[in-house]
Amino acid sequence: MTTHSLLAIDEALERVLATITPLPSEVVPLLAAHGRVLAETVRADADVPAFDRAAMDGIALRAADGAVGAELVQVGESAAGSPFSGTVLAGQCVRVMTGGVVPAGADAVVPVERIERLDGGRYRLLEAARPEQNVARQGSEVRAHAVVLQPGLTITGARAGVLATYGRDRVRVARRPIVAMVPTGNEIVPVEATPARGQVRDANRHALTGLLLPTGADVRQHPVATDEIAALTAALTLAWQDADLLVTSGGVSAGDYDCVPPALAALGATVHFHKIAIKPGKPLLFATREHAGRRQYAFGLPGNPVSSYVCCALFVLPAIAALQGQPAHWQTLTLPTAAPLPATGPRAEVLPATLVDIAGRTHAHLQNFTSSADLTRFSQGDWLALRPPHATAIGAGEPVVLLASPRP
Ligand code: AMP
Ligand code: MG
Repeated sequence: MTTHSLLAIDEALERVLATITPLPSEVVPLLAAHGRVLAETVRADADVPAFDRAAMDGIALRAADGAVGAELVQVGESAAGSPFSGTVLAGQCVRVMTGGVVPAGADAVVPVERIERLDGGRYRLLEAARPEQNVARQGSEVRAHAVVLQPGLTITGARAGVLATYGRDRVRVARRPIVAMVPTGNEIVPVEATPARGQVRDANRHALTGLLLPTGADVRQHPVATDEIAALTAALTLAWQDADLLVTSGGVSAGDYDCVPPALAALGATVHFHKIAIKPGKPLLFATREHAGRRQYAFGLPGNPVSSYVCCALFVLPAIAALQGQPAHWQTLTLPTAAPLPATGPRAEVLPATLVDIAGRTHAHLQNFTSSADLTRFSQGDWLALRPPHATAIGAGEPVVLLASPRP
């Protein structure tokens, strides 16, 4: 296949996303929902604040009584959780604490720093009170029944707090996509091994797992598979059985021992594309199959560590997002390049980048050359930069595109 007939990367992503059917949802306890993807619309069960709430420690009074120098008689106290049950009348005030209920009759809270305590339970105002000052009215943040969270949102810490605010001790989330991790290669040995000559430690399993776990994927580890069609087919049969997504690394180029395509064919998979216009990562393969009443997905990632990483970031992560009902297109940000960049060839290029400050403005510093094998150098970047195919050389200060997530 000639390079210019290779599939463009955005078209490849469209093809992946077009095949995706979101996974069913399940209900989990709130404490188990962190990092999961919301699969329901959440509404407020009550007003927030649920009562008129004091925003400061001080005294609650009628703003109409609140001229500078006015003296007020304290008739009670409203601490957080222990409201004052009476009504504040003309010339009266109630001590209130932050988070306490502003009592009936009062419409302002003057903070403790702005009052002077006198004898006989009296206070003098050092500053005029303004109506509504330091009073968060019932429902002023959120009204009961209002939509507070939409499906497809990742449950971050703040959103877990929102769910708790509205009493959601159980929440409906997308099922975690099950990913079967199957590195391949006769030369690949586990991390704890001392490689013999010609052997290589299994970096990809760990690099890819690190990329996958934060997405909510349930990554299941399988042994390294060998470069032999029958053995690989048997290994993939087992691994794909219960997994939504099969992720292999290696064995997908045009070498004599590249057995992933025939093994997937033996499993009844339909290949949607094989080889795309990207550097690194050209050999990427994507396939699906209908099995036991559901659709399953397979990514044959290249073996070279940088290639497999880049392909996982650009294609597997969006697939996992889409499976969980999330927006899945690449999110990018554009920054000026810190240094000139050469023209690109017929393939899109993905390069590691770091952010640098030049004269108060954030610039992207791209690692100009990366070998698809050199994960060590690649790992020094904090971001992935994406350069289009057939780009002309650009000078410092001209725009470059970074993937907003993930970071290498
Ligand atoms: P392949 O795509 O199988 O031809 O592999 C390309 C290159 O990536 C070879 O140099 C492999 O040794 C290397 N490689 C393949 N799988 C892994 C892995 N799991 N960890 C580290 N390097 C790998
Ligand atoms: Mg191999």
